[in-house]
Amino acid sequence: MKTKIIATVGPSCFTKQKLDLLIESGVTCFRVNLSHGTKSEKAKCFDLIKSCRLESGIRPTILADLAGPKIRVSRVKDSIKIQKGEQVYISSEKNGKNVIPISEGVKFQTLKKGAKILVDDGKISLEVEKLISNKTLLCRAEFDGVVEQRKGINFPGIELDLPSITDQDKNDLELALLKGADWVALSFVRSSSDYQLLRDIIAKFGFTTPILAKIEKWEAVKNMNEIIDAFDAVMVARGDLGVELPLEQVPGIQKKVIKKAVKAGKPVVLATQILDSMILRPVPTRAEVSDIANAILDGADALMVTGETAVGEHPIKVIKVLRKVITESESSINYKTFIKDISKKKLNTAQAISHAACSVAVKQGIKKIITMTHSGSTARMVSRYRPSAKIIAMTPFKETCRQLGIVWGVQPLLVKNYNTSDDIPLIANEMLILNKDLRKNEKYVITGGVPVGVPGTTNYLSVLKGI
Ligand code: PGA
Ligand code: MN
Repeated sequence: MKTKIIATVGPSCFTKQKLDLLIESGVTCFRVNLSHGTKSEKAKCFDLIKSCRLESGIRPTILADLAGPKIRVSRVKDSIKIQKGEQVYISSEKNGKNVIPISEGVKFQTLKKGAKILVDDGKISLEVEKLISNKTLLCRAEFDGVVEQRKGINFPGIELDLPSITDQDKNDLELALLKGADWVALSFVRSSSDYQLLRDIIAKFGFTTPILAKIEKWEAVKNMNEIIDAFDAVMVARGDLGVELPLEQVPGIQKKVIKKAVKAGKPVVLATQILDSMILRPVPTRAEVSDIANAILDGADALMVTGETAVGEHPIKVIKVLRKVITESESSINYKTFIKDISKKKLNTAQAISHAACSVAVKQGIKKIITMTHSGSTARMVSRYRPSAKIIAMTPFKETCRQLGIVWGVQPLLVKNYNTSDDIPLIANEMLILNKDLRKNEKYVITGGVPVGVPGTTNYLSVLKGI
């Protein structure tokens, strides 16, 4: 299986036994959703994942997902009934009749024509009529509904002045880093400058953890190119995206983000409603299977399930179905298009060598590409060309193995440390034989960077034979 599976941990799989079953069925990475739970529940979640092992002996990858600036309905005594056509205020300072109070500190900036406010994933829709102040908007209800406290609110078409990283995020981040998170995801990214903000905070805690941007705001769609360039990975977070923008635009955006991210060599994760119907039912719908297959043909690195494993009735079945659909769909990937699809621009040495590694494998019918990598960059670079050959990333660092747990087609393998390029063929051979992954005289492509240990210097390419 080349496409990776990420599963969200929640009450439906909150035991070591259940997580082990998910791993056995194909999960390589677990997502901790930091929007929910107390600090001790979150800590327990990290510990539980850390007690598990993948088949390779490495623990699963942990993706710590920060809540980001999600605006919610404030705590209210009673739910608020709304009638079609009625005027309602949305306010971060007022309370009272006909007011939906929202998180403190939210300030409204500019309004686009036809701006809307959507409560609870669009179950309630309000048309904005007027900016009363930078903290209060006057709106008109588009249909009847009941607003419950703590539900999320989206503001498509309204620019908001609010911090990209909240105080809660900083607390969650500290816990996640200390607990060994391998990736940090930032929700509601709006621009590429969000990257540096979070990078600086991570550095203050003494870490260099890679950051994934969740594309789920209309601003992020507008700034897609810069965000893909700045961040270490991206996610098409269709839940909020489908509320921030007209739902019918989501498939097109999804395809665009996947294509651009693959081209840029940045891992791209597809999330939300992957197998939504299986939260309650034991079998998927045709439409879900078709959606998954299309994402795989487009080249997504990983598929992430959310409620399906966190709160669903059939967490293990979900992963089994996903595995079957992935395996079947991968057999019809048109690998040639990815290798061919290199930019017309000049490639740097690392890119050219990685591309060459893939084409040597194709031309010689070689089934394995070994990348010797410290930072993981050589493996990601090779993965970018989506070769049909298996990519085995040999690295002396567990952290690198785990970071590669969300990267398409890469099988990370921990090896002993090596200092000179002379060691490379010996280590590669030893490991392949140990893993029963190589027949005598079987050819493999090997690539890496010399001198050893300098990240980003992919400049070495050779074809070797199993001995
Ligand atoms: P969430 O992100 O589950 O944290 O909201 C995923 C999405 O919006 O699709
Ligand atoms: Mn979201």
